[in-house]
Amino acid sequence: MRITRLAATFGAMAMVLAAAACGGDDSDNASGGASTASGIVGKAAGGKLTFGVKADQPGLGLQTGSTYSGFDIEISKIIAKGLGVPESGITWKTTVSANREPYIQQGQVDVVVATYTINDERKQKVNFGGPYFIAGQDLLVPVASTITGPESLAGKKVCSVSGSTPAKRIQTDYKDAQLQQFDSYSKCVTALAGGQVDAVSTDDIILAGYASQDQYAGKFKVVGKPFSTEPYGIGVKKDDTAGCNKINDILKAAAADGSYKKAWDDTLGKSGKAAPELDVSKLTNCS
Ligand code: GLU
Repeated sequence: MRITRLAATFGAMAMVLAAAACGGDDSDNASGGASTASGIVGKAAGGKLTFGVKADQPGLGLQTGSTYSGFDIEISKIIAKGLGVPESGITWKTTVSANREPYIQQGQVDVVVATYTINDERKQKVNFGGPYFIAGQDLLVPVASTITGPESLAGKKVCSVSGSTPAKRIQTDYKDAQLQQFDSYSKCVTALAGGQVDAVSTDDIILAGYASQDQYAGKFKVVGKPFSTEPYGIGVKKDDTAGCNKINDILKAAAADGSYKKAWDDTLGKSGKAAPELDVSKLTNCS
């Protein structure tokens, strides 16, 4: 039951992935740039790195006690390993959507792997390796809801997270919706369960994780009509070109040696959905 629901959601997502594969930027992926002491390559030489990750997104970044698990966590471990940092050298730090750029800029974290969409506005402040995954904005609603897509949100209470691309898109493109913002998606899902909001909007892959939680079995559905493209990047400091290039080289190696697929299979892939292809021709040019 649980697997079937998640698999159905992934079916819709596959269409977005296919569509996204046709787009992308024409990046040259040449590595280079001197590694500066302030960049992650220099820092990793000391054997330690701090990763900013989500703590309340099942399947992606979920904290249980002092342990973090999920696809973004496995991607983080791949990046750390590629930089020569052992798992014991990783410090996990919880980020929410709104503090990802400031945490990178202030050096509170070295790398962010947190369902973090690459876009031009954010690129003014940080640099991105990746994308390592393409998601799409969707809606989570109660099973009996009549909401069938973003066009049926007029007058409805829609919950999303401040500082996220989905919240911004609701504000700008669906002005008739009543947007309620929290600092994390789990708070939105609690509000949905309590009937305080009519829908939660963010990336399909995040919503699928909540819908498949045992405590919400039979309660929610993901609408399944993604209305954006959200390429997930790995954030580093804006001037860390060498670090960004290194991340892209590590992702290329992970695509080739099976470790990317393993990261998926061990986390989100448990729903039964096959790992997406990591299209290394679409990696950023780090400039
Ligand atoms: N990928 C979107 C973003 O980066 C939504 C998910 C999130 O808030 O982490 O804003």
